[in-house]
Formats: sequence, C-alpha cells, structure tokens
Amino acid sequence: MTFKKSEKLYKKGLKNLVGAVNSPVRAFSSVGGNPLFIKKAKGTKITDVDNNEYVDLVLSYGPMILGHRHKKVQKGVEKALKNGYSFGASTENEIKLAKIVCDAFPEMDKVRFVNSGTEAVLSGIRLARAFTGKDKIIKFAGCYHGHQDALLVAAGSGLATLSLPGSKGVPEGAVKNTLIAEYNNLESVKKHFEDDDNIAAVIIEPIGGNMGVVIPQNDFLKELKEYLETKNALLIADEVMTGFRSKFGGAQDLLGVTADITCLGKVIGGGFPVGAYGARNEIMQEVAPLGGMYQAGTLSGNPIAMAGGIATLTELKKQNPYQKFEEIGGEIETILLDSAKKYNVDLIVNRFGSMLNPFFTNSEITNFEQAQTSDTGKFSVFFWEMIKNGVFLPPSQFEAWFLSSALKEKDIKIIKKAVDKAMLAVSKM
Ligand SMILES: *Cc1c(COP(=O)(O)O)cnc(C)c1O
Repeated sequence: MTFKKSEKLYKKGLKNLVGAVNSPVRAFSSVGGNPLFIKKAKGTKITDVDNNEYVDLVLSYGPMILGHRHKKVQKGVEKALKNGYSFGASTENEIKLAKIVCDAFPEMDKVRFVNSGTEAVLSGIRLARAFTGKDKIIKFAGCYHGHQDALLVAAGSGLATLSLPGSKGVPEGAVKNTLIAEYNNLESVKKHFEDDDNIAAVIIEPIGGNMGVVIPQNDFLKELKEYLETKNALLIADEVMTGFRSKFGGAQDLLGVTADITCLGKVIGGGFPVGAYGARNEIMQEVAPLGGMYQAGTLSGNPIAMAGGIATLTELKKQNPYQKFEEIGGEIETILLDSAKKYNVDLIVNRFGSMLNPFFTNSEITNFEQAQTSDTGKFSVFFWEMIKNGVFLPPSQFEAWFLSSALKEKDIKIIKKAVDKAMLAVSKM
C-alpha cells in the first residue's frame, strides 16, 4: 500500500489551502503522517487517490448513514438538480423535509433549516436567549457545538466560574456569558445557578460524541431537565451528531428526556449541507418573521440539499436499521475488547447504537477529564495499522466511529482482521 498520490496532492494543496484542508481534523495532526485524499466512495467503501480501498467508519463524521451514494439519494438529488440550484424563494421540498423532521421529534412543532450544525447551534442559543430574556448559557467540558465564538471556550482551573477563550481570535467578551460544567455531574450545573440568575439555557450533546463517545449515567439528563424547569431555564439538545443515529428521531427520546430546543445537522442532509433547529410553537414564535429574533440564510433550505435530506430520511425510515446497528455495533465492540484481551492492551469501549470508539485506558470514561486519560500515542499506532489493513477511521482518539446501514458481514471480517493486526502492533509498543 502506498500513499504517493495523496502525498503529492497534500504538498500541492499546502500552497493555496490552509494545511491543505478545509477542516482541521482532516489534517491528521493528532495521528501524525500526511492526510489521505479521497477519490470516490460507494456503499461501505471509500477509495483514496492511490486506489487504496477502505471500509469507511468515518462516513463524513456521521452524515452518510446509508453508506455512500445510495441509489435513492443519488436519484432524488439528480432529479432536483434538473430544476435549478437555488431560488431565494420557498420550495415544496422544504415543507416535506420539515414534516419528516417534526414527525420524528415530538417536541418540535416547527423547524428552521440552516446550512450547518454550527449555524443550527448558534441560532438555537440565540432563540433560548430571545425566549427567556436571559443571557448566559452553560455548556459541558468536552462537548463540541460547532465553531461559533461563544462556544469555543476552555474551562478556567478546576471548572472555575470564569471561562477562557478556547481559540485564538475569540475575545474574552465573547465567552463571558458561557459557563462550563462537567458532563454527568449535576452538582456542577447547580453551582452555576446558585451564583447566577441570568442563565437562559444549558446545552448538551445527549450522547457525548466529540470527546470520544461518552454516555450519560443513570438519570443525569432527566434530573438535569427537571432541575432546569425549577430555574426557568431551557434545555438545548445538540443532536447534530445523534439525530437519527440511534433511532428515527432523537437520542433524547431514547434517554427519556425532552429538550426545549433541538439542534440537528449531519444525517438530516445525508451528505449535503443542512442544519436545523426546532422547538414547540411557543418558542419558535420568537423567530423572524413571526417574532423579533433575526436569523436568515441565502442558501438555507437549498433545494438540492433538501432533496438529499428527504431521500436519506425516507430511505432510513423504510430500512429502519436500528436493530441491525445495535447488533453490528455490539459485534465490533466485542471484536475490540476480545482483541485487547488477547494482546493484553488496556481498552475501554464506549458505544451507543451506531456510534462507538475505543479508549486506550483502563479507567471508565464518563466525562472529558477521564477521556483525557486515554493514551493517544497508542491510538496513533492503532489508527495507521487500521489504515494499512483497509479500515478508514477518524484520525483522532476523540472522534466517534460511525456505522452505516450498508455494512455487511464481509466488511465486519475486514474490520476484525485489521483490529487483530492493529492491537498486536499496540501491544508491542
Ligand atoms: C458536528 C457537530 C457540530 C457542528 O456541525 P458542523 O456541521 O460541523 O458545523 C455541532 N454539534 C455537534 C454535536 C456535532 O457533532
């Protein structure tokens, strides 16, 4: 296996693109080596420019839940293309996708489409502020909600009240209304409310997916929601990753909790740029043109993207692959754990339906601090060995792996073989 053409494109790309990528995780910085350039993908497989073929467990970081280029999606999009690309006026497809989404999320009466998860969340937060008339928001350490200023925050020492900018270019003023709490720790949320009566909302990934997969323990979400009701603050579920992943609808539903505002992205566009935020009528009433909260978009509800979303969700509903996800997810989990045992490697696997990932540690992982105990050096060796054995993984310890409904037994065999080789390599470190 060689990566010569990828290397060549990488060098070429460095001239006019920043790091030769348009999103930093694609640069492979945390696993070392040069990034792969992709030529094409079909079904469960993705092919790089050197014609190396991999079973794809990245799936564009979640959207390609049916696998690549599903024929129904391809057909739906090609049909839409014939009618034009963008009109700056409404189309029937927006109403169709809105109905599919609202039917799947009982707490959503209305939805507004945007172009990305980042945009969905920044609008959802504006909406929470508009509705409550309060300014502050609480986020959990390790949760990612897109790259808007107010959410690129780092905790001060020991989850102090003061948040710090989490990126260069984010002014202190932009994060002064963002408070940080610890995932799975209700007390850390309550502490903020004791000091402050200006908190509009708490935003959470109902299943953590951006610090590796982290699962809410016991009744954490339920208790959080009940507590917020006593404080007249809203719960915002960032389901950009989890929406339609583990059931047709939201993870919040599976976990027995109902958020006030829900943000979506990834799967709802099926590989095209679609984000959305939605809530019950009383809340959505605030959004222009019905209310005074401004939010707009030249390409929002784009007809091609809507067609991609409609075809993806319609096919997904028909396939109802969630039991299959549970089985295959369980199978991959077992493969990882058995292999770790065989080669005496410390390993924890966290999984929720079709999202999972291994952590190279022996401590349980229920929050960001614990996730940090994972040995990222071991992950890097594991990652490259998986690549060399035909499995494309996210190039970071802290990204979830995703399953598609296209996965077959022969793909699992490839994964199993690769895991055996990769775990052996890790054990020799
Ligand atoms: C991916 C992601 C986002 C950001 O979505 P983009 O489309 O990349 O802007 C926000 N929240 C969560 C939970 C995500 O996984």
